[in-house]
Amino acid sequence: MSAGADRLAEVSRHIAEAARAANRNPADVTLVAVSKTHGADRVRELLEAGHRVFGENRVQEAQGKFPDLKAAWPDLELHLIGPLQTNKARDAVALFDVVQSVDREKLAAALVKEMDRLDRRPACFIQVNTGEEPQKAGILPKDLDAFVAACRNQYQLPVVGLMCIPPVDEEPALHFALLAKMAARNGLAKLSMGMSADYETAVRLGATHVRVGSALFGARPPLPVHA
Ligand SMILES: *Cc1c(COP(=O)(O)O)cnc(C)c1O
Repeated sequence: MSAGADRLAEVSRHIAEAARAANRNPADVTLVAVSKTHGADRVRELLEAGHRVFGENRVQEAQGKFPDLKAAWPDLELHLIGPLQTNKARDAVALFDVVQSVDREKLAAALVKEMDRLDRRPACFIQVNTGEEPQKAGILPKDLDAFVAACRNQYQLPVVGLMCIPPVDEEPALHFALLAKMAARNGLAKLSMGMSADYETAVRLGATHVRVGSALFGARPPLPVHA
């Protein structure tokens, strides 16, 4: 077995154990393998091990890596998990099967426009800034209900769930529980929460999607430092 297949088996086992401990069906949790910064060869390793769902945080990086992989594995499902600029909405709709980072009306409007134009309807998650961190993307909790209503009624965006990235220095369980409550209140079935350090906690609290990078691919190369 490849190292990637080994890690995939281990993470999948942890997800299944956490799900069963919470009386949940492991099949109700989707592992999104976050391949950002890693090359297509690493993605292929997991595809060959049977995995199909991947996440990238930048449109441009995904465009360089995934068109060939999607051609070779037509059932590959690609999720955008990073901030999206309005002027990249067309590229995002063309390439991604799920957009997890919808967080403002201008973006919702741009996405539906491109969905109509391209006749493709990627499922959308609304990103919530549960920690109310100024530097972080996401809609504030107090604005969420009105935003969900606008996405549904005004834009007819195919919204399926909520996504969050808790502050690094806070107990993630509090944020996961808050996200679950907000999703239930808005009648949204999907919850994208939990990363390498806390995906088991997220599964116990109802995650339907966990976004796991380093636990599957190893440490990422450090980001270039900008002067
Ligand atoms: C990079 C990233 C992840 C994965 O992080 P790991 O800690 O490596 O598992 C999850 N979600 C988002 C939004 C990311 O940018």
